[in-house]
Amino acid sequence: MEDYLIRVMTTNKEIRALAVNSTEVVKNAQEAHNTAPVATAALGRTLTAALLMGSMVKTGHETALKITGDGPLKKLAAEANHHGEVRGYVHNSKVDFMTNKQGKLDVAKAIGKGQLIVRKNLGLEEPYEGSVPLISGEIGEDLTYYFTQSEQIPSAVGLGVLINTDLSVKASGGFIVQLLPEASEETIEQLEKNLAKIEVVSKLIDQGLKPEELLEKVLTGFEFRTLAEKEVVYKCKCSKEDTKKLLVGLGREEIEDIIAEEGQVEIECHFCNEVYRFDKEEMNV
Ligand SMILES: [Zn+2]
Repeated sequence: MEDYLIRVMTTNKEIRALAVNSTEVVKNAQEAHNTAPVATAALGRTLTAALLMGSMVKTGHETALKITGDGPLKKLAAEANHHGEVRGYVHNSKVDFMTNKQGKLDVAKAIGKGQLIVRKNLGLEEPYEGSVPLISGEIGEDLTYYFTQSEQIPSAVGLGVLINTDLSVKASGGFIVQLLPEASEETIEQLEKNLAKIEVVSKLIDQGLKPEELLEKVLTGFEFRTLAEKEVVYKCKCSKEDTKKLLVGLGREEIEDIIAEEGQVEIECHFCNEVYRFDKEEMNV
């Protein structure tokens, strides 16, 4: 089944929510970067979050998430656009199997203490950027904290990736639910009750729940209307032309030096591992 995302609003206009099945996206990311399990889980959650957040902004705008930590994964990045395309990478994809006391992959430990940075390109001169310290390293809780602190929107975020015993991706998905300013006390109480009861997202996806069925659980007791539904894919937007622009930005002298020494200049895309090569003529040096 193809991955897709839905965005809904309750008919009382007090809650908005999004949910996604990102199983294929995370499978593709795992294959592209050949990630070990804890890196797959951390990258998968980051990609899932970026997809959800990328669908909360207007067409043409992009959302980027960056997580830096003092744990072995060091850095995670994901970028998504409004069309449901996402790409990402993890600095150290080969971190050894790390599990916690419950035998679960220990994403929090693999990330460590650090920072979550959200960057939104909203078509303005300067992109919007907000950041918070990591409060748990589990990513979902950190994003919940980000929304509340940085954007002042009471929110809840659930993200999960389930890995097979052969280390491949079994299921992945997530949701974001946000209270709108008109939300009543009753609505808040009901939503809190629902969230306290909800099971781990990756397990629900693995049981075959579709994004709308996931939201039926999150929004038990509320009626809602679907505002948008779209396919999501893992897709890198890099190109030889853009890579050349990036190189030119490095400075002419540096490029001249590299070409003089190696005969060509090589640059690898972090997101998809595509290698672009430029020789003397192509760089006009
Ligand atoms: Zn690329």
